[in-house]
Amino acid sequence: MTTEESRTENPAQAAGLENLSTELRRFPPDAEFSAQANAHAELYPWASADPERFWAEQARDLITWHEPFTEVLDWSNAPVARWFADGSLNACYNAVDRHVEAGNGDRVAIAFEGEPGDTRSITYADLQREVSRAANALGALGITTGDRVAVYLPMIPEAVIALLACARIGAPHSVVFGGFSAEALRSRIADAEAKLVITADGGYRRGAPAALKPAVDEALAKGPTTVEHVLVVRRTGQDVAWTDDRDVWWHDVVDTASDQHTPVWVEAEHPLFILYTSGTTGKPKGIFHTTGGYLTQVAFTHLNVFDLKAATDVYWCTADVGWVTGHSYVVYGPLVNGATQVIYEGTPDTPGRDRWWSIVEKYRVSILYTAPTAIRTCMKWGEEYPAGHDLSSLRVLGSVGESINPEAWIWYRRVIGADRTPIVDTWWQTETGAIMISPLPGATTLKPGSAQVPLPGISADVVDDEAHPVPDGGGGYLVLTRPWPAMLRGIWGDPQRFKDTYWSRFPGLYFAGDGAKKDDDGDIWLLGRVDDVMNVSGHRLSTTEIESALVSHPSVAEAAVVGAADETTGQIVVAFVILRGGIEQTEQTVEELRAHVAKEIGAIAKPRRILVVQELPKTRSGKIMRRLLRDVAEHRAVGDATTLADSSVMTLIAAGLDKPV
Ligand code: ATP
Ligand code: MG
Repeated sequence: MTTEESRTENPAQAAGLENLSTELRRFPPDAEFSAQANAHAELYPWASADPERFWAEQARDLITWHEPFTEVLDWSNAPVARWFADGSLNACYNAVDRHVEAGNGDRVAIAFEGEPGDTRSITYADLQREVSRAANALGALGITTGDRVAVYLPMIPEAVIALLACARIGAPHSVVFGGFSAEALRSRIADAEAKLVITADGGYRRGAPAALKPAVDEALAKGPTTVEHVLVVRRTGQDVAWTDDRDVWWHDVVDTASDQHTPVWVEAEHPLFILYTSGTTGKPKGIFHTTGGYLTQVAFTHLNVFDLKAATDVYWCTADVGWVTGHSYVVYGPLVNGATQVIYEGTPDTPGRDRWWSIVEKYRVSILYTAPTAIRTCMKWGEEYPAGHDLSSLRVLGSVGESINPEAWIWYRRVIGADRTPIVDTWWQTETGAIMISPLPGATTLKPGSAQVPLPGISADVVDDEAHPVPDGGGGYLVLTRPWPAMLRGIWGDPQRFKDTYWSRFPGLYFAGDGAKKDDDGDIWLLGRVDDVMNVSGHRLSTTEIESALVSHPSVAEAAVVGAADETTGQIVVAFVILRGGIEQTEQTVEELRAHVAKEIGAIAKPRRILVVQELPKTRSGKIMRRLLRDVAEHRAVGDATTLADSSVMTLIAAGLDKPV
């Protein structure tokens, strides 16, 4: 009997994903860090004793209510939750005004760095004036509580101001990432029936102005629309086409408006925003979130997962406001907590590959939150870029978006974190609204590659096909077993799709769509999307684990693995790899990589084919789009690639496929 066969004998693993690789490195919390940490291990038993009471206490501690709530959770209309429903509040007041009222008006809220090097420093008092002007301008344009506003902006302070101004008057915003096409924008505007679009002439990308307004014009030209006005920020000064009775300049209507504005108090369940998921899988879904529960959980997680000390930390999350990370951990979390944060407009390699590290040095950034794709890109570029800068201000590092390969985690900690900083690997989704599974710095012994434990007040599990929790050591599907404050309240305009997508796979449980395993301590390891799981000779293999094995080889910078249909084995493992700078692509390298995977996780996981590529197809939020690679590996026409960051990548990969390696 081979080792692979004996693995299937383990009943714990028979049902779900196989638990192949084992990462044994451990990083216990540093005593000095723990002594000053916001979060303590006692939070877990406190929260699990009575999660509703726990969240109610967080809601009272962290959020200022206009009308205090008396109800905590109403789950009678499951799967649509109501949290703190009889309370009222305003999200913008919580993010801005109350800090000014508390005497912190002079604290910098946003330290903005434009790609060309221009800077702006905006205090909480400045922000209060700006959002008040913008809210007055929106009102003058006919926007009232409940109207939807589409936002299509570069990463400039006006993006934050626009969202807060919408929240201030109770108009749900629907941000569309500035890199998306006119068609993507059109369909999202139509689905949300937006009355106003806020955009800019353009923004700076890779050293040049990139136009935005033309896409808005094109989107609105395609037939009837609910949009009455387009509010345009002047950022680049480039020429724009103008529709007189529709388009207005921000500087004309916002800068001239009164800087006094009373926030509109809304019920806790008033919709705060709609956000369309990136579309890694199928047609985008308009995920919608409400106010009170969402703010409570983003504030709690931002404070505890990043160990924020608002008066002294400088926080930087590199996400664009077009993604949920930009909503929860650029706009709402940090501002509700009164933090000082950096916002950077452009790309990490403009003008040089050390731009991020020069920003960390210049602003003395102490908390950095970014994505594995960015970390792997920095690994590929080489250590000399961060090494040229003083990064000693950093004290907490975060990761989100995909599983972080253990090797990338180790690199992040060693090269960026001076072998000292805790790393928080945070699992969550657009749908969850806020971080759900993550270590707590100072309290958790860290394991590279694992998001580890559900946060206090959150209940997650890994179940098999029959919804039975798998024992420690087993693999299966990640589910959330209790309602949580920041959970989505639905898919905009499509309650049935909400039930079908998340609640029908396992009745009563929220199905996240991700595969996961529990290790012997019961900690959770994310193994990739369930749609990406491979089935090789009856073994269910995780893309994440094989990719991490490839990335742990010194020649490899990035890897994407897919299963391609095969008559004999069901599927074969096909790997696409990007080599590190300076490594030559030879038949020997490829053989070495296959052998390396066999050694790291077993012969069953050995890729049948390995293709060396220059780039991988990624969504604009930086995630690998494996379904397109599967098309290539199965010699099919490549499917819908409209959400790809760079659509030429697929042509290059398909052309390289027939080259012998
Ligand atoms: P779509 O739902 O349209 O396909 P998406 O899932 O990429 O898009 P997001 O909501 O931004 O949109 O991403 C959530 C997903 O990202 C999770 O379901 C998971 O697959 C992945 N993810 C996020 N953080 C982590 C993490 N720390 N570890 C592993 N996977 C993660
Ligand atoms: Mg998703």
